[in-house]
Formats: sequence, structure tokens, C-alpha cells
Amino acid sequence: MIVGHGIDAQIISQVSAVAERRPGFVDVILTPAERAVYDARKGKHRQEFLAGRFSIKEAYSKAIGTGIGSQAHWQDIEILPNEAGQPVMVKHPRQNQVVVHISISHTGDTVHSSVILEKAVTSSVAGENHEKVANQAVISTRRPAWIEISASAIAQNIATVRELTGTHHFIAIVKANAYGHGLAQVVTAAKQANVDGFGVATIDEGIWLRQYGVMEPIFILGVTPADYVDDLVAHQLIPVVTSEAWLDAVSCKLSRQATLVLSIGVDTGMGRIGIRHQEELQRVVEKINQNDQLILKGIGMHFATADEKDQTYYQQQVKTWHKLVDNLPLPSNIWYHLANSATSLWHEQPSHDAIRVGAAMYGFNPSGKEITTDKLTPALSLKAELVHVKKVAAGTAISYGATYTTTQPEWIGTLPLGYADGYARQLQGMYGLLPDGRHVEMIGRIAMDQMMVRLPEDMPIGTVITLVGKVGQEEITLAGLADHLNTIPYEVATSLSTRLPRKLVK
Ligand SMILES: *Cc1c(COP(=O)(O)O)cnc(C)c1O
Repeated sequence: MIVGHGIDAQIISQVSAVAERRPGFVDVILTPAERAVYDARKGKHRQEFLAGRFSIKEAYSKAIGTGIGSQAHWQDIEILPNEAGQPVMVKHPRQNQVVVHISISHTGDTVHSSVILEKAVTSSVAGENHEKVANQAVISTRRPAWIEISASAIAQNIATVRELTGTHHFIAIVKANAYGHGLAQVVTAAKQANVDGFGVATIDEGIWLRQYGVMEPIFILGVTPADYVDDLVAHQLIPVVTSEAWLDAVSCKLSRQATLVLSIGVDTGMGRIGIRHQEELQRVVEKINQNDQLILKGIGMHFATADEKDQTYYQQQVKTWHKLVDNLPLPSNIWYHLANSATSLWHEQPSHDAIRVGAAMYGFNPSGKEITTDKLTPALSLKAELVHVKKVAAGTAISYGATYTTTQPEWIGTLPLGYADGYARQLQGMYGLLPDGRHVEMIGRIAMDQMMVRLPEDMPIGTVITLVGKVGQEEITLAGLADHLNTIPYEVATSLSTRLPRKLVK
């Protein structure tokens, strides 16, 4: 963006006449470095140089909108010839804020100059964007530690689950930064795979999707406070009706002529959110049917134990669902969405209408160790480059607490990520994969932003270590890390911090 423009013209003979009359004039205008160039020139060139510098310093002051002497002094500005002999501004008072384009030309006895000040897009002076950035996270794009998301793995998993379930609609669940995988990358891959809708946990996640250009229905799985009804309408997001009271509150706040699309949540045994009683459900459906401003798009429930071998509780939830829902006067074209990943993978489908799938789309087993599957391909890899490599003597302690001491001379590599990135502290002792598939152990405490590995030999800086993902026949999975941490892959994935750049790969 151009933020200033100044032009000027001087008569060369007049400028040199002043310089001859008042020798101090030259020292006022020229910096010592300019003065050296001036002194080295002879005759007309010398006069041109002085008039040119005088003129361009005037033009600069016009460009910044001040007169010389108020904000900028002659010597605040230094213009020296570059290797090609062209004048370049090497010093000016707004050095950090603007790029200065200058031009000087001589014709006959006159010198003309022009200055254009351009605001550098990438430069940001401390505090300049203070308000704007206050609520933004630091965006990481320049780190040798990153997450790769495989578009083909996501497409393949979606196709697998579609085929397995015979579902008409596939709702891709992308809450919590797409299970830590990266919202933009996963949404892009899921759209390429033609999913029919998206599911998020919060209204802000839904608005993000709309702003990213998602046109498909977006279901908000968590409770949306009634205060945000205008935002729901503006972004055409589908909240879940979790009680009659919620519906009443939202209906009250709905502006005239606005229409709100809804999905009813039925609690058949998850015990989290949703309507549990037949009469309340009945009243909710009637209220929606009678209100032209409310449009029902779906009704759903959530299974608590679909990932377990014992099916008793699962079957009980299916039964409760039918009891509660089968006789409701529901509109004919709504989506019945009951199944999560575990239901989609391992059960006879309670509905062929729609499924809400997260884990299976990302390619990790929703059941941990209880039930296994070989049908899914993990979409996520976590990689980092060695940023420091050294050989240490036997008896050298490594990292906080000096919990690891070498027993022989060892090659130690440092990776630029740590527990703040979601690589948990308790993963000390876990291993990564070298490009040839060999294992390298994490040694010493994992720090907030860095950790160390024991290398088999000297290795170049920039060597890629795979912390999650596949190298040849070797593979480290989210489930493997989850095992090590005594938790589930969902938690490991969602712990991966936004500080790690995400890249969508084939
Ligand atoms: C998170 C969530 C899902 C997706 O579960 P997965 O096991 O990842 O498939 C589906 N429905 C609801 C209500 C959820 O909260």
C-alpha cells in the first residue's frame, strides 16, 4: 500500500552557488558517508550529486508529510550509490515501517526526484496490530516440526465406512481442530471425498467452517447457549435441541422472519445431553412443527458403549431409541443420525440415513485394544527434523533433572518440539523412526519445546525423524502412543497443539 509520495526539482547551479557561499551548507545536507562520495567527484558530477541529494531529501519530507526540520532532518536520510551506481536509501527515520522507492534524474541544469513510500505488508512494527492480534493464537508456519495429513487416507477411510454402513449421508466430525489433525486440511480432504455434512462441538467451530467456505449442513453437537441464536441463523448452523426449555429460550430470542434449522438430541443412555422423556420429545416436535420459523433437519442419539465387545448396553440404547422416537410425528425428509465410528464399524446399522464419524475417518481405532480393525489407514504423521547433533563422552547427563546419563560416547540429536506441542512428557523412553526405519529413543526428560534422541551415528542436521506415522514397514500409531500414556488415541490426537504446522499431502 502506498502511504506517501513526494516530488521535487532543483536548479543545480543555484544549489552549488549556495554551497560556495556557505561551505557549512554541504555538511548540513550530506551525512559523512555521502560527503565522502561527494568529495570523490569532480566538476559537474559533484554539483549534480549535491543538488540530487538536496532534492531527494526535500521529496522525502514531502512524502512523509512533514517539512524538513520538523520530523526528519537532512541527515536522518542517507542515500548512497549501490554497486551499479544507482542511489539507494540506506537510512531513513521510518526504516521499519515502509519501503522507500526513490528516483533522481538530471536534465540540463535541473535535477528532479521522486520518493514513494510503501507500507511493507510483512513488516509489523511492535504494537501496530495490537488490537487485531489480541485474540489470535500465534500461527506456526516456520518450524522444522510438523503434522502431515494424508488426503488419500481420509478419502479411503470415508469410502470404507460408507461401504460398510451403506449410509446415505456421511457427516464428517471435525470438532477440536479436526481431532487435532488440522481443521483446514481435514475439511479440504473431506470435501474432496464428497461428505454430506460436518459436525463440530461449538458454534465458533461452525462459523469457522462457514468462513472457510463450507456449504454443507453443519451440525453443532454440543449445547449452544440461546444468546447466540442470531449467529446460528446468520451462518445457517444446526444446533441440537437438548430440552424443551432450550427450545423455548431460543424461540423467544429468534428475530422475526429469521429461520432456524434444528436437530433434536435424544438421550437414550449416554447421559450427557438430550431429551430423555417421551412427553417432552412429543412437545418439542409439536412446537417445532407449529412454528414456521423452525425447521427440523435431523434427530439423533449417541452410543456410550459401541466400542465394547459386550453389546448389552448398546442394544438397550437401540431399544430405548425406538421406544422414544418411532411414534413421533416427525417430518419425512429429516436425517436420522445415530452412529459414531464404533457403531459404523462393528454394528448392524440402526439407521441407513446418516452417520456421524470422526475416529474412523482419521484412521484410528475408536476401540483402543478391545476390538481391532485392519480396515482403516491412519491419516496423521508427526515429523520433526534434527536441529542439533553432537557427540558426547560417556557419563554425560542429558536434559532437565539429569535423568539420563550416557554410559559410552553417544551421538545425541535434538528435536525442536516437546510437551507443549502435545508430545507428552511421559513419552520419555518412546522412540521415533529414522528415514531408514531404524528406531531412535527419546532420552532424558521431554522439555516444553525440545527433546533429545539417541542416534546410532553422526547424522546431518535436517534429518527427518518420524514420531507418528509409517516408514517402510515400521509404524508408530496414535494408538501406540495412547497405550504408552494409558489413554485413548482421541486424547493424544487432540493434544497435538496448534503450534505445529499442518500440511495436507496426497
Ligand atoms: C465426537 C462425536 C462423534 C464422533 O465420534 P467418533 O467416535 O470419533 O466417530 C459423534 N457424535 C457425537 C455426538 C460426538 O460428540
